[in-house]
Amino acid sequence: MKRVLIPLVSLAFAINAGAQTAQSDAMAFKVKDQAFNHSQVEALSEYLTDLLGPRLEASKLKLRAEEMVMQKLDSLGLSNPRREFAMDFNRGGWDNERTYVAMTAPYYCNFAATPKAWSGSTAGPVSGECIVLDVTELSDIPKYSGKLAGKIVLMPEGKKHELSFEPLAHRYTDEELKAMTTDKRPLPKRSWRGWGANPVRQAMDSLIKAEKPLAVISGDGAYNIPESRSVRYNSGDPEPVAEIVLPIEDHGRMVRLLRGGNKVEMELDVRNSFTPNKVINNIIAEIPGTDPKLKNEVVLLGAHLDSWQGGTGAADNASGCITMIEAMRILKELGIKPRRTIRLALWGGEELGLCGSRGYATNNLYDGEKKKKLPGFDDFALYLNMDNGTGRFRGIYLEENDMARPFFETWGKPLETIGFTTISPESSGGTDHQSFSYLGLPSYQFIQDMLEYFRTYHTSMDTYERLELDDLKVNAAIAAWLAYCAAMDDARIPVKPGYPEAGAR
Ligand SMILES: [Zn+2]
Repeated sequence: MKRVLIPLVSLAFAINAGAQTAQSDAMAFKVKDQAFNHSQVEALSEYLTDLLGPRLEASKLKLRAEEMVMQKLDSLGLSNPRREFAMDFNRGGWDNERTYVAMTAPYYCNFAATPKAWSGSTAGPVSGECIVLDVTELSDIPKYSGKLAGKIVLMPEGKKHELSFEPLAHRYTDEELKAMTTDKRPLPKRSWRGWGANPVRQAMDSLIKAEKPLAVISGDGAYNIPESRSVRYNSGDPEPVAEIVLPIEDHGRMVRLLRGGNKVEMELDVRNSFTPNKVINNIIAEIPGTDPKLKNEVVLLGAHLDSWQGGTGAADNASGCITMIEAMRILKELGIKPRRTIRLALWGGEELGLCGSRGYATNNLYDGEKKKKLPGFDDFALYLNMDNGTGRFRGIYLEENDMARPFFETWGKPLETIGFTTISPESSGGTDHQSFSYLGLPSYQFIQDMLEYFRTYHTSMDTYERLELDDLKVNAAIAAWLAYCAAMDDARIPVKPGYPEAGAR
């Protein structure tokens, strides 16, 4: 028996390593028909943005969103929608419950304002004189000692407005896509300077903590739209001072008035609540695999559900959740019986450091402390992530895994007519696929048209209007089809040789 078995096992391995197969054209037709003629993208878009609202990690609104998303997944017939623990979270929950911010002298003007996440409340409606905290070096600090209590502190200007002649939105041109297909290695090594503490900034923070001004105002975000920011805070710390982000224009106006010798006054009423929700969860649901040998293997589709507090986190990243939920809906609706399990993962805490996906990797794939693979590692067939805004998929980044190319070339054939044409050897950074790709696992992010992403994300502009529904329909068709191919194929994209050890070092 043994002698027969060994060649069989190695034959199976040989098939696994390279024999990717095309799935039927009829199935490709059905996926596109479902995606384009029976789309639920519009309804899902309203649900995920207007109805759920902002989804700052661990906030009451995020917990509400988790519940509502699980209900939605259940209503789509997906199996076992559930919360799964990802990791502990020492900040706890924070929700904004009231924001009113205006200048009252030299004249009245109300402002669009976003409180910094995890900052404190004002003592009800407050009003007071503004002062600019003009600190560029440590020796500037003492002159403000005893001067900030009862005042509204304006931080010095940061970013300045710069005239731009670039178009507001952009799709990749053929030339740009072509340039992505060549390997740019060896690239100069990027030097990582880390989040090193800035002593001047720390001294300013300590001064503010000691002086307890009425509020602190900084300028971030252009075109009169405030950006979403946060302050350092751990659950149980004393409540920080109320901190507000105004657009650079409004903040800049008051700073200029003050520097010109004018008296500037403001009134504010900001109420934030803190809750002891000290865990980060992922939302998971499945279409279970049916092949007795392969059903424990997992094809994972994912996007992060958390957002920043301004706007409704539409392009970042309701768009990814909408796409992946719609992809699952399409496959469920078509009644497929995948050989491998197709799993949807809507990650928590991406914005705070890829927390949800890192937790999933630690709990299921690789124990970094013991340097040991967990059972989920060998069952990990593929991960596809979306987190670059609402733009159309134009192809995929291979994360330098040459072995993945023939798979996407074969699987991607029926997608060429809908624009999925570019296979780039490059890596893409900054989001959840990295939690798996650093272990050498086949984990990829799509090449996406950026549209107006960098102008709008992480601001209160990021609402339903930022979603391009037709692009999301295309993306859902592509994600559904690739997940289907990966779940049905005899072969699997190999893990990078030498990994996980090489990456986890
Ligand atoms: Zn994002």
